[in-house]
Amino acid sequence: MTALLNEDERALRDAVRSFLDKKVAPLVAAHEQARTFPWELLPQLYDFGYVRGGVPEAAGGDELPMMMQAILMEEAGRCWGSLRTTVNVQGMVARVLGAAADAAQAERFLKPLLAGRRFGWFGLTEPDAGSDAGALRTTARRTPDGFVVNGSKLYITNALGCDFGILFVRLVDSGGTDHGVTGLLVDAAESQFGVHDIPHMPLRSTTSCELTFDDTLVPLGNVLGKPGGGLSLGMAAVNAGRLNMAMGAVGLSQACLEESIKFCRQREQFGKPIAGFQLVQQMVVEIATLTETSRLLGYHAARSIDAGEPGRYECSMAKYYCGESAGRAATLALQLHGGAGLMEESPVERYFRDAREATIPEGTSQIQILHLGKALLGHSALR
Ligand SMILES: Cc1cc2nc3c(=O)[nH]c(=O)nc-3n(C[C@H](O)[C@H](O)[C@H](O)COP(=O)(O)OP(=O)(O)OC[C@H]3O[C@@H](n4cnc5c(N)ncnc54)[C@H](O)[C@@H]3O)c2cc1C
Repeated sequence: MTALLNEDERALRDAVRSFLDKKVAPLVAAHEQARTFPWELLPQLYDFGYVRGGVPEAAGGDELPMMMQAILMEEAGRCWGSLRTTVNVQGMVARVLGAAADAAQAERFLKPLLAGRRFGWFGLTEPDAGSDAGALRTTARRTPDGFVVNGSKLYITNALGCDFGILFVRLVDSGGTDHGVTGLLVDAAESQFGVHDIPHMPLRSTTSCELTFDDTLVPLGNVLGKPGGGLSLGMAAVNAGRLNMAMGAVGLSQACLEESIKFCRQREQFGKPIAGFQLVQQMVVEIATLTETSRLLGYHAARSIDAGEPGRYECSMAKYYCGESAGRAATLALQLHGGAGLMEESPVERYFRDAREATIPEGTSQIQILHLGKALLGHSALR
């Protein structure tokens, strides 16, 4: 792995890993059990480039190469899935704001977000618009008093822990004309809407919320970017989110490998460490191989973007392969731990639950396959 990174990249990896191992890892089990999250730690993480890394310097960000951002997400994934998801979503919100916020919006939302004083949710998915995100139905009707929003959003990460969000809606003018999907900034301090957490299996230190808008009033100045430009803004953030998820999955596979090696060396059966049994070695080697191949694909996607290529194909392939591989790595790690792996006191129990998430948000594995199929064959299987 070290040979794949230059000196600066290695220094970043070592520094962030050391911080996460010392300051964050010891907190994980208690937070997961209580279903809480240490929001106060985030500004220290942003100093490494989390969240700020995907925002241009001109907009107040760190504008890190994609390879550096990939390393950050890999390390977050190795430490804690809930942390990786939280910084990924904050990064997507920051990225959209960095691309589209006007000066007043940047002052009010982006600046405090990059300082770790405000936190935002990313509201695209709806009950009837998941993989087919463009089919969303939430509307914002323009009136002299502001936009009147009606509809609902589903599975919105950390909406309960955030104080504003980017809501993707269909913008309709007073005459009823549909201007297409548009981003609206929704500030909990000025707009009323319903939020509740849906109990979920993975990432227990995040909330996964349903949002309901029933004649919710949003100020006219809260339109983000051009009316009708919301889907391309949102999908650009989702594309970056794909690589982040892929790299988080690489980190999770790495954690499965490290925990399995440790366990197999110390657990004894039949009078010797189980590390000496051939079938055990086969499982450990499979985890190692999945981890290394995943890492290579993720780094390749990051380097393609840094070389000026669009990287969509590479990011889709990485998201698909790394997500599926993390699921297999976590299954093997759990098997290697025997009964201990099923107990909540073992980290592999958490890895197993969190790995199930890697194949779903930011485009499921099936949707990635269809993007790749279209790129290879020139025919879309979607419509
Ligand atoms: C933990 C978590 C956090 C999330 N956070 C957010 C968030 O912060 N913001 C947000 O907006 N969304 C979020 N999501 C939503 C996520 O993006 C969607 O769950 C995802 O896009 C899939 O949509 P869906 O769940 O409606 O599944 P569906 O689209 O209903 O898919 C169901 C199944 O059908 C398959 N499928 C669908 N269409 C096709 C097709 N054309 N061909 C083949 N198979 C197909 C899918 O692959 C899947 O297996 C989150 C989801 C989860 C689980």
